[in-house]
Amino acid sequence: MPQGNLFVISGPSGAGKGTLISLLTQRFPGVWVSVSATTRVPRPGEKDGIDYRFLTEDEFKQILDDGGFLEHALVHGKHYGTLKKYVDEHIARGEQVILEVDVQGARQVKTIMPDAHYIFIEPPSLEELERRLRGRNTETEEQINKRLDTASLELSSKMEYDVQLVNEDIEDAYAQLEAYIKSCNER
Ligand code: 5GP
Repeated sequence: MPQGNLFVISGPSGAGKGTLISLLTQRFPGVWVSVSATTRVPRPGEKDGIDYRFLTEDEFKQILDDGGFLEHALVHGKHYGTLKKYVDEHIARGEQVILEVDVQGARQVKTIMPDAHYIFIEPPSLEELERRLRGRNTETEEQINKRLDTASLELSSKMEYDVQLVNEDIEDAYAQLEAYIKSCNER
């Protein structure tokens, strides 16, 4: 059976993590992406159980109290968390498990699973990030400003990760991501 690995991916909102992860699921065999729980409201087109498990504050708290989260954090005023059970199951099956979490979440996972692989996706510049966030048209002005503030803070933590990938061109960034995952499987 192939070896299971855990990859923890962070980076500012709008850096392209979602697109890169979706390419991985289409092109890289044996990849499984954890579906996080969140208390934020779905964006247009987002589906429960696919993009996130959308929970009420009470439901989130219940799972937290039951010890069901591998990590959890408050991001932009909303709760996000990784459901531990599924991550353990998929690693045990020999899959390449991907977590997309913020910097606070990645730090928590690192204390429990220091041997996991930590990847930071960065935008070419903060100006480009702002352009992408505005182009996405899914956030209000206030939310965009909040995300830009968080982005500067997150970028200052990038050296805590094993590898930093600059997403200037999506295919280039994807090739680097894939090469890194392959290299971890060859160790
Ligand atoms: P968004 O609301 O744009 O989907 O995500 C906002 C932020 O929450 C992103 O930085 C994303 O990485 C982070 N995030 C998504 N899921 C989780 C999770 O399960 N745990 C943590 N700690 N952060 C998450």
